[in-house]
Amino acid sequence: MSERLVVIGSGPGGYTSAVLGGKKGFDVTLIEKDVIGGVCTNTGCIPSKALLSAAELVDSIKGARRKGINATLEDINFTRLMKNKNRAVKISRKGVEKELHESGVKIINGEAKLTKNKEIEINGETIEAEHIIIATGSEPVILPFLKVDEKNILTNKGALALDEIPDSMLVIGGGYIGVEMAFFYSSMGTEVTVVELLESLLPGMDSSLGKEAEGMLKRKGVNVITGAEVSSVKGNQPFKAVVNDKEMEFEKILCSVGRKPTPPETDLDMIAENGSIITDDHMRTPMEDIYAVGDVTGKGMLAHTAYWQAKIALDDICGIEAQGFSQYFIPAGVFTHPEIASVGLSEEDAKAVYENVRTSEYPVSALGRGYASGERTGLAKLVCAGDEVAGVHLVCPGAVDIIMEATVGLQKGLTVGELADIIHPHPTYSEAIIKAAKKLDN
Ligand SMILES: Cc1cc2nc3c(=O)[nH]c(=O)nc-3n(C[C@H](O)[C@H](O)[C@H](O)COP(=O)(O)OP(=O)(O)OC[C@H]3O[C@@H](n4cnc5c(N)ncnc54)[C@H](O)[C@@H]3O)c2cc1C
Repeated sequence: MSERLVVIGSGPGGYTSAVLGGKKGFDVTLIEKDVIGGVCTNTGCIPSKALLSAAELVDSIKGARRKGINATLEDINFTRLMKNKNRAVKISRKGVEKELHESGVKIINGEAKLTKNKEIEINGETIEAEHIIIATGSEPVILPFLKVDEKNILTNKGALALDEIPDSMLVIGGGYIGVEMAFFYSSMGTEVTVVELLESLLPGMDSSLGKEAEGMLKRKGVNVITGAEVSSVKGNQPFKAVVNDKEMEFEKILCSVGRKPTPPETDLDMIAENGSIITDDHMRTPMEDIYAVGDVTGKGMLAHTAYWQAKIALDDICGIEAQGFSQYFIPAGVFTHPEIASVGLSEEDAKAVYENVRTSEYPVSALGRGYASGERTGLAKLVCAGDEVAGVHLVCPGAVDIIMEATVGLQKGLTVGELADIIHPHPTYSEAIIKAAKKLDN
């Protein structure tokens, strides 16, 4: 009889674990308390990217006259636009369900708890398993003075499902979720203000990317306030928010100040102080035969991080020796227009680790593709430790796809000279990377 694997949570970490487990011959049970697909499919990656693709279209129409095309934006049918987004979510969810079904995974709907004896309690029953993978994800951090109702005071969930285009919106937090939502709503015509506590948007990424994001948003008319704090929100439509002691009024408030891991209820000793589940680089928790993957580990908090961690966990369960998890190789993207992408170390982080940090930048506006397309925003920035490429940061159309070449380069340990020697098609935005590399290659 096959060994039993129970997976808790059906987001990217959970469904990947379950599908891989099924393919490897385990008797797999997946427990999900909500709908299949987790945050990514239902309230994260897919709906946000569906909305941003509509924003791109709106911006293209608005900018068409600059290129001699007399197109005018007549109207936005927001109900239809949201229906389209819902369609994308449904297709994505169905895809996940099909994969689970084809891999022979049994699904139980309910909230799982983990007992002291490493048993799983679900809907009043107890399940035993040889192996357990926890993939219970994360939830938004909510500022204490906000009462989220997902209609007016929003997290990502409500912001991705409004019925009408709001007149004004305060986005608290300028991380990638806040920047993407600010971008979308300003394309829809909402007057958006973004307030970020730190000095630069997109904290955690190279500060050059934060500056580019700020420039992009400001050119769209977004009011970006960095190094500032929202200390209270009172009233109701308009909400009165105090930003650095100044009162401002908004129709909607989006709280996007970060996400926190949501482990299942358990007596087992495996939760770190920040609420994440403790794991080593093979996704093993301190409890034998219990693994954790995805946002609940607090590492990376991206869908592709969860996919990778699920593969590492399954390999480990099967006794396959595999490369351990490293956050260093995980590319990250922000789906503005142009896109923002990054892999490896920021200049700031590299300088904290290495002494011989060298950087170079190349602007998109100086590329053949840049001036052919009239693209004036964007850059490629390389961060090197001596000759070794330590980080690549990119702002250009398609940046999130192009960053893959840098990810391969980093994984393979390429030097800046080796990167500069790779033939790139002309005219493309990817040439910005080799142009920046050539500036550093002596
Ligand atoms: C607005 C937004 C945009 C995003 N865009 C991107 C993007 O473009 N690219 C990207 O890579 N990442 C993106 N992310 C991040 C991505 O969505 C997450 O990193 C990813 O969903 C994490 O997957 P996961 O499997 O760890 O957890 P989740 O997707 O959070 O899934 C966890 C699942 O576990 C279930 N669960 C929790 N507790 C229990 C329990 N006790 N019992 C049973 N079930 C339980 C939950 O209901 C949920 O379905 C975005 C996130 C947001 C919010």
